[in-house]
Amino acid sequence: MVYLIISDLHSNLEALEKFSEIKDSLPHDKLVCLGDMVGYCANPNEILNWVRKNADIVIAGNHDHAAIDKTDTSYFNAYALKACHWTRDQLTKTNQRYLDSLPVSTVEDDITWSHSSPFEPEEWHYVNNKYDGKDNFPHFDTQCCFIGHTHQPQIFEENASGQVERVPAIQCKLKKTHRYLINVGSLGQPRDGNPNPSFGVLDTGKKQFSLKRFEYPLDKTQEKILENGLPEFLAQRLVDGQ
Ligand code: ZN
Repeated sequence: MVYLIISDLHSNLEALEKFSEIKDSLPHDKLVCLGDMVGYCANPNEILNWVRKNADIVIAGNHDHAAIDKTDTSYFNAYALKACHWTRDQLTKTNQRYLDSLPVSTVEDDITWSHSSPFEPEEWHYVNNKYDGKDNFPHFDTQCCFIGHTHQPQIFEENASGQVERVPAIQCKLKKTHRYLINVGSLGQPRDGNPNPSFGVLDTGKKQFSLKRFEYPLDKTQEKILENGLPEFLAQRLVDGQ
């Protein structure tokens, strides 16, 4: 099976349109979306309409729940909160109901899929480093768990004696004796210093994971953020990749 795995789209339509073209040229069996479809950029309904039509496995993220008033937003910064309130006013009833229907993590095809940490996924904990990674391995039973949330691609590998290392997130052979916690980064707002969106390709036949990146016309996304009165900071960070 080949899975294309995307996360943290954050209403960025231009990035999604480019990804959609790439997806059509990449042979795959399933498309997985790990949440945070909305928040930050200016096309929440277009993104959700696309995900509803195209994705096979879909998880809700904290921004998705915030947009339907289903989670606490007291820890959101001022920019995220402004985008959240704006998004709330935009969402169609159908898309509100859709977000409400999604799980925050699931196990499907013997793989764990979650927006945030596999430990208490509904609490939206971050997995930032190998120590967080190590703490999270006991909280899923499958060989692989895929996550998003930090907007930073990362691969944590646990060996048979329980030692955890962070390995380069570009390409990784999945060893039979090891387990993996993999963050596919963000399609809509990368934060690892590279403004190009990322997504993951998992080939279970070849036992291989690879991370792909691509360029997109982010100036259009920025224009729409400003036209809609969303914070300028949200436009700037798309160029900075932060
Ligand atoms: Zn996010």
